[in-house]
Amino acid sequence: MKEITVNCPQCKKTVIPDTADCYLPFCSEHCKMIDLGKWVTELYRIPEVEKIEDKRKGN
Ligand SMILES: [Zn+2]
Repeated sequence: MKEITVNCPQCKKTVIPDTADCYLPFCSEHCKMIDLGKWVTELYRIPEVEKIEDKRKGN
């Protein structure tokens, strides 16, 4: 029997897929939500930065 483990990208904890199946590759819902939140924040941040850059060029 081989044990497959992954490291949670958020907290770097060792995750045993059997016990955290629905959150993989994260160890828990908490870490999954933190990571999703980061993605959402960055996705919204990029267009805002571009707008600011355009205004600076105009001046
Ligand atoms: Zn984690």
